[in-house]
Amino acid sequence: MATEIDIIMRGPMAFEWARKTLEAMEANSVWPTAVNYELWMYYVAAKDSRIAAEIEQVLKSGAQFTEQVGEEIASRHLPSARLNGEILDAGKNLSAELNTVTRAIETARETSEAFGQQLASASVTLEDKDAGDVRSIVETLSAATRKVREENQVLESQLADTTGELSRLREHLEQVRRDASTDALTMLFNRKAFDEALETACRDAAEQRGIVSLAVIDIDHFKIFNDTWGHQTGDQVIRYVASVIGRMAEGARIAARYGGEEFALIFPGEDRDAAFSVIERARVEISTRILKRRSTNEQLGAITISSGVAETMHGDQPVTLIERADGALYASKRNGRNRTTLADKNSASQGA
Ligand code: GH3
Ligand code: MG
Ligand code: MG
Repeated sequence: MATEIDIIMRGPMAFEWARKTLEAMEANSVWPTAVNYELWMYYVAAKDSRIAAEIEQVLKSGAQFTEQVGEEIASRHLPSARLNGEILDAGKNLSAELNTVTRAIETARETSEAFGQQLASASVTLEDKDAGDVRSIVETLSAATRKVREENQVLESQLADTTGELSRLREHLEQVRRDASTDALTMLFNRKAFDEALETACRDAAEQRGIVSLAVIDIDHFKIFNDTWGHQTGDQVIRYVASVIGRMAEGARIAARYGGEEFALIFPGEDRDAAFSVIERARVEISTRILKRRSTNEQLGAITISSGVAETMHGDQPVTLIERADGALYASKRNGRNRTTLADKNSASQGA
């Protein structure tokens, strides 16, 4: 189905919009990559789209529209189209492979049919021939047998090639699927994979009368950090925090990058106290580590995180669980940051 942008970009104003898109990108120092261009088309030509709203938000926050930011918005709003393209390509390769095999099998069948006919006519011929003629009949049959054997060898090697190609295609599809659910900066699950995982965890819990806990985690005063040390160093800190949170994702737990400097950890089957102590471990580890800038060895000062933890209550949907965890996170921020707050309970822990 054609989207609104597809129609606009084939309409009478198409080139005008394209020029405006590039101008807007240049004015905001955005690299003209294919992904960025696709996103910015929405920003310029489809102002009421969700992509336009997200770009607007990034610009308003004063943050730079880096490739990472673009990838993130794309992974939330453009992935299925790209994934479909990859699957389509893989499908085309697959059907080409199958055509080759079908043709080879057809040739082999024709050859063996011809061989059968030669055998049949040879046996008829043999009945009224004397021994002298048998020799030439045997030669004909040997030649036919050789041909069948050769055809079979070709068929076997084509089948081997096809099997190899099929397993390469399978690996490629696996990789595409992994990429589509992975955040490129941190290698944690991305927002889309998080949404799916939380949906599944909540549904399983509801079916089995079980529970799910959820922690949302946000780096404190990260804007100031970025302004002081630069975006690149900021990215390294996001990676570092992600690595600590990723390490906490044992067993069925799922760690995701939820947004720019926000993370989430899903705890299927675990109660909020268990989740709370895991997040506390991460908080203490992060706040006590002295970070240094790789290039200059300068000390960057402590990084701290604030979190909110909630557990499913009767009738909880993913969205209400997220809302309560978010509420607890904001309580952590309000009460001074560098702490973890439990939703629906008046308890919080805080760092020194
Ligand atoms: P608070 O303690 O209230 O969370 O303060 P904050 O400054 O962290 O809050 P806010 O959410 O307003 O700012 C988040 C900042 O994180 C904005 C942006 O500069 C930065 N940020 C978001 N995504 C990225 C990213 O991918 N890389 C880097 N380096 N910075 C990012
Ligand atoms: Mg934030
Ligand atoms: Mg923050």
